[in-house]
Amino acid sequence: MTVTDEPQNLRSRAFDKEQLRAKYMEERNKRLRPDGNDQYIEVKGQLAHYLDDPYTPVTPRDPRTDHVTFAFIGGGFAGLATAARLTEAGIKDIRIIEKGGDFGGTWYWNRYPGAQCDTASMVYMPLLEETGHMPSEKYAHAPEILAHCRRIGKQYGLYDNALFHTEVTDLTWDEAHSRWIVTTNRGDAFTAQFVGMGTGPLHVPKLPGIAGIEAFKGHSFHTSRWDCDYTGGDPSGAHMDKLADKRVGIIGTGATSVQCVPHLARAAKALYVFQRTPSSVDVRANAPIDPEWFSGIATPGWQQRWLENFTANQAGGNAEEDLVQDGWTDLSRRIRAKIMQLPREERVPAKMLAAFEDSDFEKMEEIRSRIDTIVGDRETAAKLKAWYRQLCKRPCFHDSYLQAFNTPGTHLVDTDGKGVEKITEKGVVVAGREYQLDCIIYASGFEVGTEYKRRSGFDMSGRGGVKLSEHWAEGMRSKHGIHVHGFPNAFFVQPTQGANLISNVPHNLTEAAKTIAVMVRHARQNGLRQIEVTREAEDKWVELLLTGAGRMIGAPDCTPGYYNNEGREPGPAAKLNVGHPAGPLAYFKYIDTWRSSGDFEGLEFR
Ligand code: NDP
Repeated sequence: MTVTDEPQNLRSRAFDKEQLRAKYMEERNKRLRPDGNDQYIEVKGQLAHYLDDPYTPVTPRDPRTDHVTFAFIGGGFAGLATAARLTEAGIKDIRIIEKGGDFGGTWYWNRYPGAQCDTASMVYMPLLEETGHMPSEKYAHAPEILAHCRRIGKQYGLYDNALFHTEVTDLTWDEAHSRWIVTTNRGDAFTAQFVGMGTGPLHVPKLPGIAGIEAFKGHSFHTSRWDCDYTGGDPSGAHMDKLADKRVGIIGTGATSVQCVPHLARAAKALYVFQRTPSSVDVRANAPIDPEWFSGIATPGWQQRWLENFTANQAGGNAEEDLVQDGWTDLSRRIRAKIMQLPREERVPAKMLAAFEDSDFEKMEEIRSRIDTIVGDRETAAKLKAWYRQLCKRPCFHDSYLQAFNTPGTHLVDTDGKGVEKITEKGVVVAGREYQLDCIIYASGFEVGTEYKRRSGFDMSGRGGVKLSEHWAEGMRSKHGIHVHGFPNAFFVQPTQGANLISNVPHNLTEAAKTIAVMVRHARQNGLRQIEVTREAEDKWVELLLTGAGRMIGAPDCTPGYYNNEGREPGPAAKLNVGHPAGPLAYFKYIDTWRSSGDFEGLEFR
C-alpha cells in the first residue's frame, strides 16, 4: 500500500508511521543536490542591481574620522536594543553603522505586501514597555514594526550619530590604544573603544543559480527590495493596481512567499507560483489587540513576564499558563503532552523521541488535511502538501495563502522538487514548458550557510592581527555567544552559543543587550580599558555546549533547506551552531545570575 495524497484515507484510519517515514524520505531524496549551498549565486557583478535600495536615496556626507565609545554594526533589533541599554547605562556616544537607509534591519528591507511577524508581537517587538507602544495586532505587520524601530532610535537619541547607507569594510584591533579602528565603504576611518556586531543571519539576499537568470528581459526583483513603483500599492498592503495587466511569476514558497502570494493573487492578471518544496502552512488567527485588555495586563515588568512565559512554554519549561498562545507554544505543548502520556518509567530518550515524532505526524496530518478543506482543485491541493517533519523548515502560519490558489488566474507550478529548469528572455521554464511573464519576483531567501565573512562583508582582525575567520576556522568559538577570545571589547549579539531560541530571536538579542550594558558600565565605572574572555573560559563554554543533544531543528535527514545545510553532511563546524545544553530558559536564568553577580566569571578586565 502506498501513501496517497487523499486526506480522507488518512483521517479515516490511524496513519501508518512506516509509510509516512518512507514518503518523507522519498521526498527528501528527490530534493538532494550535490551542489548544496552552491546552487545559489552571490548577488554581485551583473546581478548587483538586485541589492540596490529602492526605499531611500543615498545622500552624500563627509567621512568620519572621530572616536566614539561604542560602535555597533547593524541597525536592526540587535543594534537598537544594545544601544538602548547602553544609553540607559550612561553611554552617550554610540554610533550605529547600517547598510540600509534607516534603522530596522530586516524590517527596513522586507516591505513586501503582507509582511508581518511570525512570532506574537507582544514578545517579538523589543522594548515595548520602555517605549509604551501597544502592538495593534497579535502579529503586527511590517510597517508597524519598522515604525517601532524608528521609535526606539528616536527615544534613545540614536539618529544623530548613526551612519546609514554605510557598510563596514574592516575592523582592526589597536592594542596600543585599546580600541577598534573602523573603516567603511563611505571613506570613514574612526575609532571605537567597544564594538558590537549585530549583522543578523538573514540579510544577504540570494538568488537561485537557474540557467539563464541574466537573460530575462522583463522586470524582476528580490522580495527584500520590493519595487512598489512597478507593482503599485504600498508596504501596508494597498492594492497593487499596476499589476492588473501583468503576468507575474514568483519563485519560492518559503515564509516570505506565503505572506505575499495572497496580495499578488488579488492584484495580478495572472500569477504563477513556482514551487520546489511546499511550506507547512498552519492557522494564523491574527486579531487586533484590544487597548482595554492591554491596559489591564501592561503592569510594570509585563514584557519580561511575557517573554519568560513564552520561552517556558515553547522551550521546555513547565509553565502552567500560556500567555501568548500561538502556533509555537501549541507545538511544544503537544509534544510535552505526548511525552507526559508515557508511563513515568518509560520517559527515556528513545521513547521520548518517538513520542515527539508521533506528535509531529499528527500535527503534519492536520496541516495537510486543512489544505483539502480550503483549496478547491484536488491536484493543486495535493501539490501543496508538505511531506516532512514540521521543524525541517520554517513552520508557516497564514489564513489566506492556501485560499489564494482558489483565485482565478493564480496557478501553482509545482516542479516536483526539481526547481525551475531555466529562465529565458520571456519567462520561466518548468518541465519543458515556458511560462511567459512580465515580471519575476525572487522569493528565494537569504544566505545562511555561506562563510561568515561573506555574509558580514568583512573579516575583523583581533589581537595580533588574527582574523575572526582564522579563530573560527573549525567553527564558532565564544563564551555565551557574545565574547570571543583574542577580540577584546567586541560583543556579538545573536542567538548561537547562547539561548539559541529560534522561535523568538529578539529575546536572545535583548538579553545580550542587557549583559553587554552591564559589562561596559562596569568597565567604565572602574576605569578599565579592556574586556576579554580568557581562552580557558571560552574552551570551557564550548565544551559545555557540546554536552547537549545538538540541534532540534533541521535534522540531517530532513528535506533540504537552510535549516540543515541543504541536506548535506553538515561538517564538524556545524556541531558548534548550538545553544546552552539545558535549553533557552536555563540559559536566560543563568545569564541573568551571571551578569547580576558582578563577578563576570571567565572575563578579564584590564
Ligand atoms: P526561504 O529560504 O525560506 O525560501 C526560499 C524559497 O525559494 C524556498 O521555497 C526554496 O525552495 C525556493 N527555491 C530556491 N531555489 C529554487 C529554485 N531553483 N526553483 C524554485 N524554487 C526555489 O526564504 P524566505 O525569504 O521565504 O524566508 C527566509 C526566512 O526569513 C524564513 O525562514 C524566516 O526565518 C524569515 N522570515 C520570517 C518572517 C516573519 O517572521 N514574519 C517572514 C518571512 C521570512 P526549497 O524549499 O525547495 O529550498
